[in-house]
Amino acid sequence: MSLKVTRRKFLQTASLAAASVPLAKVVSAENGFVRKPFTPPGSSAGTTTVTGGICEMCFWRCQLVGKVRDKKLVKLEGNPKSIDNGTAICARGNAGIKLLYDPDRLKYPMKNVGERGNPKWKRISWEEALDECAAKLKAVEEKYGPHGIAMFPHGASAKYPMHFFERAVGTHNVSEASFFQCRGIRDTAYVSTFNTAPGEHVDMANAKAILLIGCHFGENVHVSHLKRYLKGLENGAKLVVVDPRYSASAAKSDIWVQIKPGTDTAFLLAIMNYLIENNKYDKKFVAAHCDGFEEFQKGISHASLDWAAQICDIPASQIKEVAELLAANAPNVSIHPGRHVSWHGNDFQRLRAHACLTALLGAIGVKGGFVKPKGPKVKGISWAKGHHDGAHNLKEMADKYHFAPPGTPTELIRDACITGKPYPIKGCVIWGQNPMQTIPKPQKTVEALKQMDFVMCVDVMPTDITMYADILLPEASYLERYDYIKKGTQWNFADKHEQFISARMPLVEAMFERKDEVWITNELAKRMGHADKIPVNSLEEKVEKELASAGLSIAQLKKEDGIHIQPGKDPYGVSEDFEVLLYNEDIEDSGYPGVPTYIPVEEVPKGFARLVYGRSPVHTFNRSQNNVWLYNAMPVNPVWLNDESANKMGLKDGDEVSMVNSEGVKSTFTSVVKVTPGIRKDTVYMAHGYGSKNPMLTVGKGAGIDDQALITKIAIDPETGCSGMRNNFVKLVKSGKALDIPA
Ligand code: SF4
Repeated sequence: MSLKVTRRKFLQTASLAAASVPLAKVVSAENGFVRKPFTPPGSSAGTTTVTGGICEMCFWRCQLVGKVRDKKLVKLEGNPKSIDNGTAICARGNAGIKLLYDPDRLKYPMKNVGERGNPKWKRISWEEALDECAAKLKAVEEKYGPHGIAMFPHGASAKYPMHFFERAVGTHNVSEASFFQCRGIRDTAYVSTFNTAPGEHVDMANAKAILLIGCHFGENVHVSHLKRYLKGLENGAKLVVVDPRYSASAAKSDIWVQIKPGTDTAFLLAIMNYLIENNKYDKKFVAAHCDGFEEFQKGISHASLDWAAQICDIPASQIKEVAELLAANAPNVSIHPGRHVSWHGNDFQRLRAHACLTALLGAIGVKGGFVKPKGPKVKGISWAKGHHDGAHNLKEMADKYHFAPPGTPTELIRDACITGKPYPIKGCVIWGQNPMQTIPKPQKTVEALKQMDFVMCVDVMPTDITMYADILLPEASYLERYDYIKKGTQWNFADKHEQFISARMPLVEAMFERKDEVWITNELAKRMGHADKIPVNSLEEKVEKELASAGLSIAQLKKEDGIHIQPGKDPYGVSEDFEVLLYNEDIEDSGYPGVPTYIPVEEVPKGFARLVYGRSPVHTFNRSQNNVWLYNAMPVNPVWLNDESANKMGLKDGDEVSMVNSEGVKSTFTSVVKVTPGIRKDTVYMAHGYGSKNPMLTVGKGAGIDDQALITKIAIDPETGCSGMRNNFVKLVKSGKALDIPA
């Protein structure tokens, strides 16, 4: 099979993602599975347009308008006034309606009268549910202290309750998947280098060259970010993609570096060493802004092109070609910091290398480089700080993970739950997160949950974690509540200097007995003895006060079609005191390498391939698996397998397979093989988030393979405590037989 032939297919996948996908096209995506019924949204006659929506089908939060007929939302569109996503929304944004009206959604408070993991649900009143939650959590607090409660939050609605448990109740034991299984390493690595978290602030629209390491834009869709990337390509930016897989981005690249997984730091070190040895770095920027250049130069001097070529399993000439391309286009180069970067347990060093390369190219504060937009200021309202119990911080007690992001590393919490050391954790609050499919080795999460005195979950949908709740509370969705302030600058901030402020406003009323996070948290707080600390009485009041800090109000925003736009500031330039720590003494003093260092990963054992995973353009991990439109677009997560390997194994495209990992853990469900030359022989790939087990999910249950369940070997990043999740090796199983994957 030639790469050229498959390219078209990959581009098709990418175009699926590129904003506002016609639904008919979505439904016609290929797969070998029977599709579930699809209902078209209906005609537009008799509808009114409601402004002020903010999408939360993913965290990017595009600005929406809703078309409402007979009090029913019939269509979602991008807000034409938006200077961020504009009128575009992606397939998932479109399908928000199917989440809103999903018949499987949580409707009433429920009590588990069966077992955790095998629940039997009984509908109860809010009064009874809140009384029981508060009494059980209070009992844990009184017996074990506030640190006896752990919390796993996710999403905009989880911030207010998270602050309640951290600041009013006083537990450190809060673990956000978005930090400890996703971007936390990136943030702390950049803070340790630039003293600022990078977000995704690279000016790709104005870049002359873009370097993506493991980012697969096109499959990874965040509308305004994707617009920036596509604008850059349209303007002629050279694209380098480093990925073991021929991703949607690799399909558009000038150079595709098909790297061996886990070795990216060696690749980056060799590029930086080459730039220094050949005087191709930005000496003026380094002299003005970089500290520790001598230690840095010495520390990476071993990283020759040949050294890296052997480690990364790529030609030395290709590393040189990439280095030359970056140097030729410097400083207008976007080195993308990545987002989900928790890969191999050596990632802090890799992300430090991203930041150092950016500095060596002088690609900071310039067009096309790392540029922090200057957005408007809006003051957040939440629980007052200062009630933390500092004596029970697990990180400090263990004297580990000195560069961890805010909160507590998940493994420290799970270990304390299971061993009772250094202290027991007996109460658990899970709000919008699904730790069964966000945290690796779910078997360990089950063990941690089974020993709890009390578990409560709050969510919009049932998920695999809600099967472990004692009390399960139904939350209003992002289309039914006030909530998040979205602010920022024009998507292509180079063209126009404008800022925007918008606030999430309900497009329709919440149905059944669903409630928002402020109401639920405040009712809990009153029952747990914290009524005196409640900062606001309603979510609407919270938003009103936050807007007031920027001289706005809900009424004003409504008058302005949901988005206030004001003049912005030129984002370019670097302040004189901006400092880059190429060598960081604090890191070294804490016992880690102060200069970015490559730490080797375990080799793939014979007969296996490394399991890597990524995003689907039409799903947001596990959260959208029950959405019937999105299910129809991609019902399972095909397993990418090298075509030569597949030939030798007797597998063909579309064959149904399951998986077993090198520790003997088998996938519960099956998927299909995607035979392709576009993946290394030592690697298999699939989209993350499939394989739900909850029988309440009548669409998504049993669809595809759950990658997280196969991730049983976790490598914890030593500096940050984040979970490295690409260290597992798998075989494919066909008709009950595990097949060796040829070397
Ligand atoms: S990128 Fe798509 S899913 Fe994410 S917020 Fe925007 S429209 Fe919603």
